[in-house]
Amino acid sequence: WSESKDTRKSAAAFVVIGHVDHGKSTLMGRLLLDAGAVAQRDIDKYKKQATELNKSSFALAWVMDTGSEERERGVTVDIAQHPFQTANTDFTILDAPGHRDFVPNMLAGATMADLAVLVVDANQLESGMKGQTKEHILLAKACGLSKVVVAVNKLDATAPKAWDEQTFHHVKAEVGKLLQSVGFEKEDVLYVPCSGLGGTNVVNPAPSSGDTAWVTGASGTLLHHLESSPAASPADDQVKAPLRMQIADVFRGSITNPLSVSGRIAAGNVQVGDIVVIQPSGEKATIRGIEVSSEPGDWAVATELCTLHLADIDPVHLRAGDVLCSTAQPVGVIRSFVTQVEVLEPLLPQGVDVHVGRLHVPGSVAALISTVDAKGEVVRKKPRVAKAGETANVKVVLETGAPLPVGERVVLRSGGSTVASGRVGSVSV
Ligand code: GDP
Repeated sequence: WSESKDTRKSAAAFVVIGHVDHGKSTLMGRLLLDAGAVAQRDIDKYKKQATELNKSSFALAWVMDTGSEERERGVTVDIAQHPFQTANTDFTILDAPGHRDFVPNMLAGATMADLAVLVVDANQLESGMKGQTKEHILLAKACGLSKVVVAVNKLDATAPKAWDEQTFHHVKAEVGKLLQSVGFEKEDVLYVPCSGLGGTNVVNPAPSSGDTAWVTGASGTLLHHLESSPAASPADDQVKAPLRMQIADVFRGSITNPLSVSGRIAAGNVQVGDIVVIQPSGEKATIRGIEVSSEPGDWAVATELCTLHLADIDPVHLRAGDVLCSTAQPVGVIRSFVTQVEVLEPLLPQGVDVHVGRLHVPGSVAALISTVDAKGEVVRKKPRVAKAGETANVKVVLETGAPLPVGERVVLRSGGSTVASGRVGSVSV
């Protein structure tokens, strides 16, 4: 692969996070339209439908709810992938459709992403800072994302004057503090003043006169920043490691490729003709075709988002969240593990849902072993409860066996909120 990899265009995938109604879908619809991935006539069609429902401002947002190839094939998809291209890069927007269950889907998207786009309504900073924004950025960090592009959105609607420069700088400062408080480095965060609805500074630069005269000086366009954020390129040992890819979605039913899975390769490489193992079922499958960034190819390597067409396996053995691995060294199926977690809400021995990317398994925190300080020294042994902000070593027991390698990032949720996140330490079967 190392000889031929230079011929592949660079690829980058991102998740879109932020409080409901701050304009995520509209901004992404705009990006797809202005980058040429969606035709204006489709937007006009949505606009007509939306106007009939008195919701014309949602026409762009509807692009995100339709049009994805998988949906047209009538398959249920948890993580919609919206591709678009520029001269240099193949992009994929990983969208977590549906507001009610945003977080589990977002977790699935975030583990496949290179970076996050955080959308903040410049006029609603308060709601943006407290609620979902904070949870989403904590989760993005917990999923291993280190780069964020902050779209300071709806600047066309600042009051009393549109495109108020001070508002942009204020939002930038406040969101910056929040991002740094959860561990994002200053140099990994970029800020873009924009309007998704109007399309200003998304793909097309803002007019250099009038209200928006300051914008170009403050930041390039959103697309420019996405292009200049380098996507992960795998280290050689990551490519040579045993294959491991969590299945994000399973597709059934196309005539040429009756059974396919998509995901991001976490480790190793895969070629057409390879035999792989699916965990936890332990069933084998043959790779009959590979697509990377929607282009057919013979191989794919760690960090690439791909679709693998499978043969010689019954679909009942394939579920989203399963892990596809090398036959020589398959990922072990475990029943319990010890993890060091950052505690976000008071943590007791309690039932939790254990989220690992697309996988969620019911389980429980069976024991609090200790809390530790920043150097890893034990502060309290066997505490009754670990408080928000503490780091704790805990034992987690799963209700069913799950394919989790040591080092995998896990998020513990309970009653619809995120209580802790960490990495799998020692495991037992
Ligand atoms: P989401 O819930 O974050 O995906 O938000 P939506 O994209 O559905 O947008 C929520 C509302 O905000 C809709 O009525 C949009 O038309 C409106 N909106 C989105 N972006 C902008 C913008 O840049 N300017 C203005 N004025 N309104 C916007």
